[in-house]
Amino acid sequence: MNISDLRPRVAVVGAGLAGLSCATILQEAGCRLRLFDSGHGPAGRMSTYRGDDWQCDHGAQYFTARDPAFQAEVTRWQTAGAAAAWNARLAILDAGSPPALRDSTIERFVGTPRMSAPARLLAQSLPLTTACTIGKVAREGQHWRLWSTEHGVIDDRFDAVVLAMPAPQAALLLDGAAAELATMARGVVMRACWALMLRFDERVPLAFDAAFVNQGPVRWMARDSSKPGRSGPETWLLHANAPWSEENLDAPEEQVASALLSAFVQHGGPEPAAWTAHRWRYADVAPDHDPVPGYVWRAADGLGLCGDWLNGGRVEGAWLSGRALGHEMLAALKST
Ligand SMILES: Cc1cc2nc3c(=O)[nH]c(=O)nc-3n(C[C@H](O)[C@H](O)[C@H](O)COP(=O)(O)OP(=O)(O)OC[C@H]3O[C@@H](n4cnc5c(N)ncnc54)[C@H](O)[C@@H]3O)c2cc1C
Repeated sequence: MNISDLRPRVAVVGAGLAGLSCATILQEAGCRLRLFDSGHGPAGRMSTYRGDDWQCDHGAQYFTARDPAFQAEVTRWQTAGAAAAWNARLAILDAGSPPALRDSTIERFVGTPRMSAPARLLAQSLPLTTACTIGKVAREGQHWRLWSTEHGVIDDRFDAVVLAMPAPQAALLLDGAAAELATMARGVVMRACWALMLRFDERVPLAFDAAFVNQGPVRWMARDSSKPGRSGPETWLLHANAPWSEENLDAPEEQVASALLSAFVQHGGPEPAAWTAHRWRYADVAPDHDPVPGYVWRAADGLGLCGDWLNGGRVEGAWLSGRALGHEMLAALKST
C-alpha cells in the first residue's frame, strides 16, 4: 500500500532542529502531522533573544556542516537567505598571555538575520502549535494521546509520537510511556549554561570578534553584531563554562552578571550600557555517558526519540538525528 493512502497521523513534540527535520521528512511523505512546542516560536536552543531595538543569539553561536546531507541543507538555507558564513576574527584567551588570534579553516555558519532563521524557514510549511507544553503522552488502544499543560487533552489521536527535546525533558514524558527509554534518557546528563548579553553605545575596541576562553568562568565571548545580516547596536554575548554554570545554577542574575562582566573587563572589554542574563538549564551533553544510538524508533507502538543528545550534540547532530528518525519511521509506517 502507498503511504499517501495510509496517511499516518504523527505528533512531534519539540520544534528545535531535530523535531523540525523529522517533521519535514514525515510531512513531505504525506503524513498528517502536528508539531507542538512549549516556546513562543520554533528553534529551541538555536534561538535569538530580541529586545526593543536589539537582538542577540544567546544559545547556539554558529554551526558547522560536515555531513553531505547537512551541507546540502545549509546551502538551501543560504539560498533562501536564512544562513550565511560567519568569517569571525577568532582568538584564544589563555591565562596570563595576550589574546592569540587563531587562523581557522573550519567554515562556520550562522542564521541570518538571526540564529533562529533556519528553524523559522523549516517551520513555515509545518503545522506548528506554539506555547503548548506537552505534559503527558500515553497510548490508548491503537493510538497515542497527548495532554498539554495549557490546553488539556489534544483533540487528536496519533499513530506515532516523536519526542524531540533534551534528555531530561524527554525522560519526564517517557516515565509513564516507556520506562526503559526513560532510564536511557536519565543516563544522559545535560549541563547548564549561563548566557550574558551586553549592549554598548559604541564599538568595542577588542581586536577579535569571538574568543574561546580558557580561564575563569567564561568559556566563549562573541561580538554578536559582527555576524552577517545583523543591524542595531553593538552587542556581545558571553557564555559561562558548564562547571561554573552548574555551580551557580540558582544564583541571582545580578551575581552571575557581575562575575561574567568582570571576566570580560579583565580581557579588555569595557563596561556595557546594559545587560540581560539568560539561563539555559539543559545546554549541552556532559561527555561521560553510555553510548546512545543516534535516534530511537520503537516500531511496536510507534514511539520515536531524536535530538542532539542522541547524536553527538550540536546543531548538525540534532538535524541529522531527526532526519534519520524520519526516514526510519517512513520505512516502518509504509510496511504496516
Ligand atoms: C548556550 C548554548 C550554546 C551552544 N552553542 C552551539 C554552537 O556553537 N554550535 C552548535 O552546533 N550547537 C551549539 N549548541 C547546541 C545546539 O543549540 C543544540 O545542539 C541544538 O539546537 C539542539 O536541537 P534539538 O532539536 O535537539 O533540541 P532543542 O533545540 O532544545 O529543541 C527542543 C524543543 O523542545 C521544546 N520542548 C521541550 N519540552 C517540551 C514539552 N514538554 N512540550 C513541548 N515542547 C517542548 C523546547 O521548547 C525546544 O524548542 C549550543 C546550545 C546552547 C544552549
